[in-house]
Amino acid sequence: MIPYSRQTIDQSDVRTVLWVLNSEYLTQGPKILKFEKALSRAYGARYAVAVSSGTAALHLAYLAAGLEKGNEVITTPNTFAATANMLLAVGAKPIFCDIRQDTYNVDEKQIERLINKRTKAIVPVHFAGQPCDMDAILRIARKHKLIVIEDACHALGARYKNRKIGSLGSDMSVFSFHAVKAITTGEGGAILTDNKIFYQKLLLQRTHGISKNHQGKNIMTTLGYNYRLTDIQAALGISQLQKLDKFIKMRRQISTWYRSELKDLQAVILPKEVKGNNSGWHLYVILLKNSSLRDSLWSYLRGKGIGANFHYPAVYGHPYYRKIGYQKTKLPVMEDYQRSCLTLPCYPALSRRQVGFIARTIKQFFIKHGKAH
Ligand SMILES: *Cc1c(COP(=O)(O)O)cnc(C)c1O
Repeated sequence: MIPYSRQTIDQSDVRTVLWVLNSEYLTQGPKILKFEKALSRAYGARYAVAVSSGTAALHLAYLAAGLEKGNEVITTPNTFAATANMLLAVGAKPIFCDIRQDTYNVDEKQIERLINKRTKAIVPVHFAGQPCDMDAILRIARKHKLIVIEDACHALGARYKNRKIGSLGSDMSVFSFHAVKAITTGEGGAILTDNKIFYQKLLLQRTHGISKNHQGKNIMTTLGYNYRLTDIQAALGISQLQKLDKFIKMRRQISTWYRSELKDLQAVILPKEVKGNNSGWHLYVILLKNSSLRDSLWSYLRGKGIGANFHYPAVYGHPYYRKIGYQKTKLPVMEDYQRSCLTLPCYPALSRRQVGFIARTIKQFFIKHGKAH
C-alpha cells in the first residue's frame, strides 16, 4: 500500500537518537534547548517552546493568549479537529469562516463580518502548506485589536511573499512534528513567538505551572500540564530540521510530477500555488468536478494499493460539533469542497514511478466512467 504520507528517517537520525539513549538525559536535557534554538533561528522568531504534540502546542498557545469562556475565535472549518477542539478545551467558542475557492484556506474577505464584541482572536490554518493571506488577516486583527495564532502545522518550511511562515508578525505560530508532517519527532510540536510574556506563560504551563522561586524551591503558581518533549525526540528534531529544505524540495518535485501527469485530465482540478508564495506541499489535494464520483475513485485507488485520503471533512460537521450547537452551520464553499476533495500520496520518498502509477490509475478510473476528457 502506498500511504498518503509517511516519515523520512535516515541513518543519521537513528544515530543521534541512539546517542541520547546512551547519554545521561532522556527528558528535558540539553537537546530540548538546542532544538528550540535551532527552530527560533531558522524561523527568525525570538522564542521557541518545544512540546509533546501540535495539539499541546495549540492548547498552550490559546492559554497564553488568555482565551477563555465568553471569547469567540474565528477559524477555518477546513482543518484537523484539534485546531477547534483546543478552543473548546479553554472554554472559547470557535466561529467558522468559509474558505476560499482557490486555496481552500480561510476566506479573509469574510472574516470581518464575523467580528463582534466577544471576538478575541483569529486562528488561520495554512492548509496543505499553502500560506493564508497573512497581510490581510493581520490588518484586520490590528484594526480590531485581535490576537492572531497561526496553526502552521502544515506549513513548516513554507513561504509567504518570500518570508518564512513562523516570522510573519502574528502573536504565535504553532507547529506539529507528527510522523506525517514536514519533519518529525514521532509526536511533538512547538510554538514560536516574539513576545516574552507569552513565552514565559508557555514555559510555565508546559510543566504543571510549577517553577522555582527566588529561594530555589518549586512552587506552583498557575494550573499547568505535562506537555514536555523528551530529549530523545528533540535530538531527532534537530537532525530532521537540517533536512527540511531537502524534504520540501522533494515534495515540490512530486507536485510538479502530478501536474505534468494530470494537467490534461478535465475531470479534476489540481492544486495551485498563489503567485509569490511557496507552499510546503504538506498535502496534495485534487478536486473532482463531479463530486458524486469522489468516493468511488477513493475505493478504486485503495483497491489498487493507493492510500488516498480526505482532508478535511468540515470540523463543524463532526457528530460532536453538531451535538454542541453547530448542527445548522453550513458554509457553501466548504460544503462543495468537502464533497469533492481527495488527497493523493505526497511525501519525500515517493518516486517518479509511483506518481506515474497513481496518475495512470486515476486516468483509468475516468476512462471507465467515460469522463477522460
Ligand atoms: C497535525 C495537526 C494538528 C495536531 O498536531 P498533533 O501533533 O497531531 O497533535 C493540528 N492542526 C493541524 C492543522 C494539523 O495538521
